[in-house]
Amino acid sequence: MATTSIQKKQIRDVVLTHAHLDHIAGLPFFIDDLFVSLEEPIRVHATKEVIEKLQKNIFNWEIYPNFSELHNKVGAVLEYCQFEIGTEISVKHLSIKSLEVNHKVQTVGFLIADEKSKIAFTSDTAEMDGFWKVVNAEKSLAAILIECAFPDELENLALQSHHLTPAILKMELGKLKNTNCPIYVINMKPVYREKIVKQIEKLAIENLQILEVGKIYEW
Ligand SMILES: [Zn+2]
Repeated sequence: MATTSIQKKQIRDVVLTHAHLDHIAGLPFFIDDLFVSLEEPIRVHATKEVIEKLQKNIFNWEIYPNFSELHNKVGAVLEYCQFEIGTEISVKHLSIKSLEVNHKVQTVGFLIADEKSKIAFTSDTAEMDGFWKVVNAEKSLAAILIECAFPDELENLALQSHHLTPAILKMELGKLKNTNCPIYVINMKPVYREKIVKQIEKLAIENLQILEVGKIYEW
């Protein structure tokens, strides 16, 4: 969660997929940096399990302050907003439906919609069935964002840690009915990015591309 100063002023809702460190590492410092200036709390939307992990392992006074106990001059600085898997929540102008995926810990992907369009997002996952069932029932998705953390030569590690490789990603995309929907690869481990990109290009799947970090996409 690397944020610019403009984003720091605007972001007040954080929606979590799971509690792995690479997905929450920025959150403690984000709240810390904004502590004095917040006029409303940072709302952390997550499942009960993820909220409990944050409270137990991060915001526990041992690793970092328990911000949910602290107030600035205006009021609370951190508020937990619990959601149930499979339900839809409203966050600002977005409606966000969580879908359980297949990762090493409880993890959700999302269907994210505004009044104009809807996209699907896997977060971290290994091969899945339930996610595709929901995605295949959607009539007009604008995009699917799917992870591919490891290159093919690290398939064992991918299987152990519940992630995808380009070869497994190809099999997963075989479960998708709408083959025209643009698909973007996300969550590549940075150190393997170049290898993964080459292997994905070799797959030669027409509607499959790499999501560029830092680029703004509009759907
Ligand atoms: Zn993870």
